[in-house]
Amino acid sequence: MNNTQEHSTPQCRLCSASQGQTIRADYVFGGRPEHKFWHCDTCDAIYLFPIPSVEEEQYFYEKEFEKFMASRSGDERDWSGAERHIQTNQDQVRRRWKFLEPHMQPGMELLEIGCSSGFMMDAFREFGMKCTGIEPSSVFIDYLKEKQYEVYSSLDEFRASAQARAFDVIVHFFVFEHIRDPYTFLRETVALLKPGGRLIAEIPCANDPLTSLYTIPAFEKFYWSIAHHYYYTPKSLAHVLDELGYSYRLLPEQRYDLSNHIVWMTEGKPGGQGRFNNVFSKQLVEQYKSDMKQRWQCDTVFLEVYKD
Ligand SMILES: [Zn+2]
Repeated sequence: MNNTQEHSTPQCRLCSASQGQTIRADYVFGGRPEHKFWHCDTCDAIYLFPIPSVEEEQYFYEKEFEKFMASRSGDERDWSGAERHIQTNQDQVRRRWKFLEPHMQPGMELLEIGCSSGFMMDAFREFGMKCTGIEPSSVFIDYLKEKQYEVYSSLDEFRASAQARAFDVIVHFFVFEHIRDPYTFLRETVALLKPGGRLIAEIPCANDPLTSLYTIPAFEKFYWSIAHHYYYTPKSLAHVLDELGYSYRLLPEQRYDLSNHIVWMTEGKPGGQGRFNNVFSKQLVEQYKSDMKQRWQCDTVFLEVYKD
């Protein structure tokens, strides 16, 4: 890391504006004291600066990522092994399916970027789709290969392989915010879609009520992560997608429930999902999420990109 990066006010990493750059998050989980998340008034980008080097980042994904995630996941996800990881993510499969189903047909070829233990690919395969995965972490690779999945450690490796081809559907879940150059990444992935193909992505939304509606010091120390280059809002996502001239749609989603939010407020920690389900009615839990989504004051965005 060089000194000019450390001490100057940055140019926006999404739109290059140099005016109106202010610090949005002073503390970055897993980062060094000089790391901050900056906000751009022009395009609404929230971006990490100074930018970690490519070498630091590669080391992190190859060796550290699963440990890092385990240290953050509260108690709802288990990163201790592939089978446990798959089991403890079945609620994610069910939640995501309503966003995915309209785009899916048995027989389609699907690529998942960042397939992890393959818990989503299992669901796609069961639905009758042919799945290929990209996963930079080495932790689950042997496991996936044993299950006869075609897996690559990077898009580059896939494109250089004899199997390189285009897909009907490309998906990624909580990957886009980790990407250093979103423009190149989107161009490269959309190029791998067949004509008429779809890209579906799930992305954290920085309008998350835990940071953009309520003030919760413990959440601020937890949310802003060194693993992310960006925290997107509908406005900054639209900026990127409009620049690229894509046809797309953004859909609001709220992953975390009222119990999770109350536990953050009262105990300052994650892991509260569902805690008060014996007290709150199902309608209340759903209505709370629905109010957040309606205002786009929600923690997650689904992105659909259509290739002509
Ligand atoms: Zn900007």
